[in-house]
Amino acid sequence: RIVYVNGQFLPRAHASVSIEDRGYQFSDGVYEVCLFLNGKPLDFHLHMDRLDRSLAALSINPPMGRGAFKVVMDQMMRRNRLRDATIYLQITRGVARRDHAFPAFPPAPAIVMAAQRFNVAALREKQKAGVAVISTPDLRWKRCDIKTVSLLGNVLAKQAAREAGALEGWMVDAQGFVTEGSSSTAWIVDQQGRLRTRRLAKDILPGITRHVVGDIAANAQIAPVEEPFTIAEAQSAKEAFIASTTSSVTPVTQIDGVPVGDGTPGPVTRDLIDRHWRHVLRETGY
Ligand code: PMP
Repeated sequence: RIVYVNGQFLPRAHASVSIEDRGYQFSDGVYEVCLFLNGKPLDFHLHMDRLDRSLAALSINPPMGRGAFKVVMDQMMRRNRLRDATIYLQITRGVARRDHAFPAFPPAPAIVMAAQRFNVAALREKQKAGVAVISTPDLRWKRCDIKTVSLLGNVLAKQAAREAGALEGWMVDAQGFVTEGSSSTAWIVDQQGRLRTRRLAKDILPGITRHVVGDIAANAQIAPVEEPFTIAEAQSAKEAFIASTTSSVTPVTQIDGVPVGDGTPGPVTRDLIDRHWRHVLRETGY
């Protein structure tokens, strides 16, 4: 496996970063996960726009331009002989003597990329069968809109889900409303048949798939309503699903052990899955 570290392509075993990297010591950095299918990126510019916003929020200067990112990612795909893969891209503030405040003289940001084969067939199976989610308290900080590598709240939510035999943890805020999944956006088709997801604010990540699915749904005359929902509302909803780069639209058929609808993927979700795949096809030719 070939990875990219600070300007170099190296075998993974030979790649290293400093123990004084601020990403390691303070989670002082941001990341993106881009999906490549058929060797082509999905929603590349939307991911790069969000990366720019994440970097700006932390006052880290973009270490390279968008064109350069694309070149390095294409190289990663080629050097690893991958056609369907996710590319993890992480940028941290860089290496400095340990001190919480930003270094007075900004170090060069550290860039790391790693690619991982993506199993499209496995995703298709999940989309057909649906997945279970559990609820778990949202323990995260107050700037979840920034895609930082500070993910302990998300890690604990996903671990709780795994231990319960579920695929995703839906995090619940102090008012009892679902914020989002540990690595996906939460959606329902409520009892009135409205497609519903939480509004964008500092308490959730502006998901790329959320944005794309919102557009797709609006074009299909099922414009989403941006209104939060509780676990009880989701359990008694007609349908529920998650959306993310790696799960596309995946039906949620069980929440805390309670079946959603008749416990199988519903018609609105299945329609959105088809429409989203058509979008993927247009973008990547997959
Ligand atoms: N919310 C969180 C907390 C996430 O980590 C992710 C995955 N990056 C998402 C939502 C989905 O975002 P996207 O569609 O951009 O993958």
